[in-house]
Amino acid sequence: MMTYNKITPAVLQDIKNIVQGEVFTQTEDLICFSYDALNQKFLPEAVAFARTAGQVSELLRLANRHLFPIIPRGSGSGFTGGSVPVKGGLVLSLTRMNNIIAIDTDNLVAEVEPGVITAELQNAVEKLGLFYPPDPASLKFSTLGGNVAECAGGPRCVKYGVTKDYVLGLEVVLPGGDIVKTGAKTMKSVAGYDLTSFLVGSEGTLGVITRIYLKLLPLPEARRTMQAIFPSMDAAAKTVSAIIKAKIIPSTLEFVDQAAIRCVEEYLHAGLPVHAEALLIIEVDGDSKRWMSCGRSGVPFRHRFSS
Ligand SMILES: Cc1cc2nc3c(=O)[nH]c(=O)nc-3n(C[C@H](O)[C@H](O)[C@H](O)COP(=O)(O)OP(=O)(O)OC[C@H]3O[C@@H](n4cnc5c(N)ncnc54)[C@H](O)[C@@H]3O)c2cc1C
Repeated sequence: MMTYNKITPAVLQDIKNIVQGEVFTQTEDLICFSYDALNQKFLPEAVAFARTAGQVSELLRLANRHLFPIIPRGSGSGFTGGSVPVKGGLVLSLTRMNNIIAIDTDNLVAEVEPGVITAELQNAVEKLGLFYPPDPASLKFSTLGGNVAECAGGPRCVKYGVTKDYVLGLEVVLPGGDIVKTGAKTMKSVAGYDLTSFLVGSEGTLGVITRIYLKLLPLPEARRTMQAIFPSMDAAAKTVSAIIKAKIIPSTLEFVDQAAIRCVEEYLHAGLPVHAEALLIIEVDGDSKRWMSCGRSGVPFRHRFSS
């Protein structure tokens, strides 16, 4: 089994030199980087904030020389424990590498640093009439680097897929410190091994992602949401099959059982039907002409099915 060394004062000074002082060592700061959404706490010895792939590379080379663990971290919202420093060492925060480098409207590609918050990219591309569909419920605070490392997905995956379906290419610093690029900025990139797919979902175990090339889509013109209420879970489940069989692919198709309806109602007081056995939240999007007869886009409507 691999044994690790503690970070000595001399190594800590090297870390500080590499990231130009952007290091935390006070316990009250370290606590903030000791857990993820699972809430199991392991204190790191230090936290460093990288700003460039070169700095990430130097830190990894240093870690190899002195045998201390490095744990890449975005917002720490993961449920896998991947950003938790179980064996101590250095948490490498990517949150200050948070620039949207380019949104290429000619080729529908975004080039981003890993610390960009998912919703910030979505808002930026929507202003240009474009669409980045992956929608983990954590999108307002999780990073794109974390999304790629976890292959995050949300309700829109029914129609649009998950993060892996949008990653065209990556810049990654390998554990030994080499900086490599995978994939391409183009939709068609078929030559050679598909290393991009190998890296997506690898939870930081194969390298540190320092740049991401993402596919964008045209923003759908219209979006309509429906809440369908069912007297039984069976009826709701059969409706899901019927919708797909009718060759309708909603952008979102969420099943909510009675326990979840009651929890949400207790918290939000949104007027949900707490006696219903099940709900389906159905969202469709597409060409605005198709929705003209359905009223104003974005206004949810409700339908109650009898048994
Ligand atoms: C309220 C809530 C709702 C959520 N909803 C969803 C959901 O709907 N769908 C879903 O899929 N997930 C969801 N999640 C889980 C989580 O938000 C996602 O997994 C998210 O992608 C993690 O991003 P992060 O920036 O917080 O990454 P972190 O938690 O910091 O890290 C996650 C993993 O990625 C690695 N990592 C982070 N950045 C990099 C990098 N630059 N290079 C290499 N490795 C890196 C870490 O080492 C770790 O293994 C939810 C979490 C919460 C708390």
